[in-house]
Amino acid sequence: MTDLYERLKAYEGRATAASPGVGKDLVNEPMIRHWCEAMGDTNPAYSGPDAIAPPTMLQAWTMGGLSGHSERSAAHDELFGLLDEAGYTSIVATDCEQEYLRPLRPGDRITFDGLIESVSELKTTKLGTGHFVTTRMDVRADGELAGTHRFRILKYAPARRKPKAAARRPRPVINRDNAGFWEGVAEHKLLIQRCGGCGALRFPWLPGCGACGSAEWDTVEASGAGTVYSYVVMHHPPFPAFAPPYAVGLIELAEGVRMVSNVVGVPYDKVRIGMPVRLDFLRVDEELELPVFSCSDGDGGAG
Ligand code: ZN
Repeated sequence: MTDLYERLKAYEGRATAASPGVGKDLVNEPMIRHWCEAMGDTNPAYSGPDAIAPPTMLQAWTMGGLSGHSERSAAHDELFGLLDEAGYTSIVATDCEQEYLRPLRPGDRITFDGLIESVSELKTTKLGTGHFVTTRMDVRADGELAGTHRFRILKYAPARRKPKAAARRPRPVINRDNAGFWEGVAEHKLLIQRCGGCGALRFPWLPGCGACGSAEWDTVEASGAGTVYSYVVMHHPPFPAFAPPYAVGLIELAEGVRMVSNVVGVPYDKVRIGMPVRLDFLRVDEELELPVFSCSDGDGGAG
């Protein structure tokens, strides 16, 4: 490894591009204005007759756009080739650092050149083991150094992932406002809050009535009958503990309130709006049981 490190270090100070770069455009007002609009930056220094460019635009003036960047140098390709051969085949950008030496103004002509500033010793990170490579771009305006842009990457061999214990389904957050609901679930009851002031039913559980503001309430037990008011089928992104595709339904209970739940016992692509469903309880693991809904016309088989 030490041997490899010596060989990598030998590239420090070498140019990253085959030839020095020239900005595609002079520093100009339209690009400054677009940048400020995109960033929501209303600093008055960036408009008007004495406008300067936002310093953080430094790299923007060096970008190749859709027509591409200038070619990498042989040194750059060799360095990355050495890292690849040594097994450090993955790459991740870690940080970037800029230094501003003089403001850029409309009309400035930008030139830049990049070099391989440093290669770190072998480091072990959560992602894996490898070498950090820092490149530095010096940006000049009309020949005068205006700023530097350092960019650091980690070129690494991915750590072998330990096989994880099977992911557990997320736990519900149980608090003073909804504890009664979960106590009901433990007894295989689906409890709906009923306002003590106006009698309105509400779900999910809340400390006060949205209709009249009363904090008084009791509960009614749902009959368990409902229909699919709406639904989505989850394909992506995958979450640990969930195996897509699966149907998530907005269930309208016979009592009139709606709740989000899984529709089970029926293929995900057979779930339909208006489909009658029936309350069931799904034992997820030793700690967690959830109210779910299965197709109630008898062929679901989730019983
Ligand atoms: Zn009320």
